[in-house]
Amino acid sequence: MLPLLNETITPLPAARTGLLGFSDIVRIRNRVLALRQQGTPVLQLEGGEPFAPTPEFVKDAMKRALDANQTRYAPSSGIPQLLDAIRDKLAERNRIAVSHEQLIAVAGGMHGLFCAFQATLDPGDETIFFSPFWTPIRDLVHFSGGVPVFVPWSELREGNLAEMLEPRITPRTRVIYVNSPANPTGDALTGEQLRAIAQVAIARNLVVIADEAYEDIIYDEPHVSIASLPDMASRTITVFTLSKSYSMTGWRVGYVVADNPFMDVIRKLVLNSVNGVSTPTQHGAAAAVADRSDHLRQMLSEYRMRRDLLVDGVSRAGFDAVAPAGAFYLFVDVRSRLGNDSWAAMNQLLELTGIATVPGVVFGQEGEGHLRMSFSTPIETLERAIDALQKL
Ligand code: PLP
Repeated sequence: MLPLLNETITPLPAARTGLLGFSDIVRIRNRVLALRQQGTPVLQLEGGEPFAPTPEFVKDAMKRALDANQTRYAPSSGIPQLLDAIRDKLAERNRIAVSHEQLIAVAGGMHGLFCAFQATLDPGDETIFFSPFWTPIRDLVHFSGGVPVFVPWSELREGNLAEMLEPRITPRTRVIYVNSPANPTGDALTGEQLRAIAQVAIARNLVVIADEAYEDIIYDEPHVSIASLPDMASRTITVFTLSKSYSMTGWRVGYVVADNPFMDVIRKLVLNSVNGVSTPTQHGAAAAVADRSDHLRQMLSEYRMRRDLLVDGVSRAGFDAVAPAGAFYLFVDVRSRLGNDSWAAMNQLLELTGIATVPGVVFGQEGEGHLRMSFSTPIETLERAIDALQKL
């Protein structure tokens, strides 16, 4: 028998949880909330949510499901209506041919990515990704015991992708994370760039984790899914979410496409974590994915209008702003006006203009000297922010 302790010791969490960070964006959100509570108006460009509400037809589908008592456990991989709708959408729009066996519903893109990294990385395995990057990815890699290896987006825009990736590949490289269109830079990889990544992945036997959260918010070129390229389906885990395309951030629903052996592992991870997405939510999601109205086209034109407005306003204020190819963020180089330290720049801009943004360094060292501004806001907020910028 263990001897009894004669002093009180506070229990500690598991050691591996020390590998997980907590988003700095939450710190900014709290700061904005505090300012608003004091009555200080804030022009909120720091967010990452669609400006529009969830479409009525999606809400109606969930209401109908509730009225029909669709409230019990569903198959943990997803209800058949949702999987059918996803299969058809993938064939039509992503050129990925799958059956239900390669699909699973997850509780949002974040959950899908969590499962994807858990399914692929052993301790010490390296994951290549382009930086600046969506912050949680580094945590997900760390929590799987993995090691991030960064490739600057700036290099990628100018250089030859294969030449850039090859020197970073070691015997421990296991995954390339591809996020296109990208948060926070708004970059979108061209078909040619994706083919170059695919060639390296095949030659080096790597897995690609494709994060296509912004697939429907791409302005000039059509979106290309890397899993649709020859010989890529078996080595790609693609994570989709309904959060951005259908303004469903709070619904927590997305889906993952993968072949075995990965899909079997992801099914176990889902079963042993959330045990499936909430049933009424899946009915709403099925209506969204099956929708063939012009919702997506209209949404894109709203974002395009906002993008052009902000790019113009920010440029007129003397910043170097390049129109992003996708997503709803402007990643502005503020070094000439506000200095290199992006936390200081964020604070200065907030104090002088009331505009809340996210410091670029939050998204990796390569983001230093930049601020992320979301243009997914009401037009009026953008106009007021642009006016405030002109007075800076
Ligand atoms: N991937 C990227 C690049 C994102 O920016 C986000 C959300 O901001 C997600 C995935 C996940 O979104 P969700 O978990 O809401 O589906």
